[in-house]
Amino acid sequence: MIHLSLQQKAFEDEVVLGPLEFKLQPGERVAILGPSGIGKSTLLRIIAGLDPRFEGTRHLQGRLAMVFQEPTLLPWRDAVQNITLITGVGVQKAQDVLAEVGLAGKETQFPGQLSLGQQRRLSLARALAADPEILILDEPFASLDEQVAEEMMALTAGLIKDRSMSCLLVTHSQREARAIADHILRLDGAPAQLNKAS
Ligand code: ATP
Ligand code: MG
Repeated sequence: MIHLSLQQKAFEDEVVLGPLEFKLQPGERVAILGPSGIGKSTLLRIIAGLDPRFEGTRHLQGRLAMVFQEPTLLPWRDAVQNITLITGVGVQKAQDVLAEVGLAGKETQFPGQLSLGQQRRLSLARALAADPEILILDEPFASLDEQVAEEMMALTAGLIKDRSMSCLLVTHSQREARAIADHILRLDGAPAQLNKAS
C-alpha cells in the first residue's frame, strides 16, 4: 500500500507538481499517462521513496521495486552479477528471475552484448529479484520496436498477475496502460495534477 499526499514538488523555484493525492492498494494496478516533461518520472521517484525533497507525506507498506526509464546496468558485470551485486540475492535466485523474464542462456552476457529489449528485461529481472509486492515501472516499453514491445508487455502483464503484485506504470501509450492497468490516471497542468483519464 502506498499513500502519497503531495503539497508540492519544486526544482529551485519552479513548482512542477502538486497539490495531488496518490493511493495504491494491494493488488491494484494503476497507469499514469501524461506528456513528456510534465513530471511523471519525478512523481515516480517520490512515490518510490527515492526523492525525499518534497512537501507532503508518504506512507508505504510492503516491499517495493522500481524499473527506471533508462536501464541502469553495470557495464562490466554480466547479467547474473548485475542482479546479485545490486540486490544481494544469490546466483540461483538471479538465474531464476532471468529465466522468468526470458533471458535463460544470457547469464554471462554483459549489458553491451544485450539488445535494448534484453537490457529492459534484465532491469525487470533485477526488480523481481527482491520479490516486491509493489512494482513501479517508468516507461518500460519505450523505444522498442512494436513486436518486442508487445512481447514484453504480455510478459510483464503475466508476471504481475502470477506474482499478485500491485503495479504503478508510467507510459505515453493508452494501449500499454490498458494492457497492464485496471485504472488509468492522467498527469497534466502546471503545476501538474493527477486526474482520472477520460
Ligand atoms: P518524459 O515523459 O520525457 O520522461 P517526465 O514526465 O518523466 O518526462 P520529468 O523527468 O519528471 O518528466 O521532468 C519534469 C520536469 O522537471 C521537467 O521540466 C524537468 O526539466 C524537471 N526536472 C526533472 N528533474 C530535474 C532536476 N533534477 N533538476 C531540475 N529540474 C528537473
Ligand atoms: Mg520520464
